[in-house]
Amino acid sequence: MTTLSTRGLTRSFGGVVAVSDVSVAFLDGKVNGLIGPNGSGKTTFFNLVTGMIRPDSGRVLIDSTDVTRWSPHRIAHAGLGRTFQLCRVFPRMSVLENMLVAVRRTRLRELLGGVAGRADVLRAREWLARVGLDHLERAEARDLSFGQQKLLELAAALMAEPALVLLDEPAGGVNPALTERIADLVRELNVREGRTFLVVEHNMELVMSLCDHIVVFDRGSPIAAGTPSEVRSDQRVLEAYLGV
Ligand code: ADP
Repeated sequence: MTTLSTRGLTRSFGGVVAVSDVSVAFLDGKVNGLIGPNGSGKTTFFNLVTGMIRPDSGRVLIDSTDVTRWSPHRIAHAGLGRTFQLCRVFPRMSVLENMLVAVRRTRLRELLGGVAGRADVLRAREWLARVGLDHLERAEARDLSFGQQKLLELAAALMAEPALVLLDEPAGGVNPALTERIADLVRELNVREGRTFLVVEHNMELVMSLCDHIVVFDRGSPIAAGTPSEVRSDQRVLEAYLGV
């Protein structure tokens, strides 16, 4: 079980309070969505819970462990994987090398001077097959389409076997066919393997079809939470999005 929650999480940039006194809990074993208008604090929240930036106040908890001041690396070790909005792969490395670097990073093999073992290569190939990139293992990452690079980034994050995966705009800039493949993979990893997801996504159709539970941010704080149909009909959500 890996339950992510926050207590009074707050972070400002200059005079702008990007995330304001946020206390939320995401549902373990479910696909959670985080939505909200532009500038509502979603990215800042993601960066806070993954240890990329520090809060001014408040706490981040994984289960009951306070991980607020932990490094991104240590948080990843605790079972929390993530992908980035603008996709972070090593462009000049092959697809397979990108997968193996992910293992070395998480296991500190670099420090020990080791190389990826045969078992890691097999596991990398299994993940690549699951995301449909196995035929491209020798290609340089930069030669993949943006959507394929996002799949590679997700596959590399999965090499660490995270119990909870944060996806930052998985469908952003991705064509509909690959978006559907990413959605299918998330469903499969959730249903079959019980992995928990937290997804920030602008594609409402995808969010509504993929997520079990959605938290809606506006101006740095949650204004609603519930099932897709609950948040869709919530007056505060309509006001935040449409200004009605
Ligand atoms: P979202 O991801 O929902 O679009 P963000 O978390 O990116 O929202 O931004 C929330 C607010 O914080 C915005 O007003 C944004 O301009 C501000 N902000 C975010 N990051 C920074 C930063 N590094 N420096 C200054 N302001 C920032």
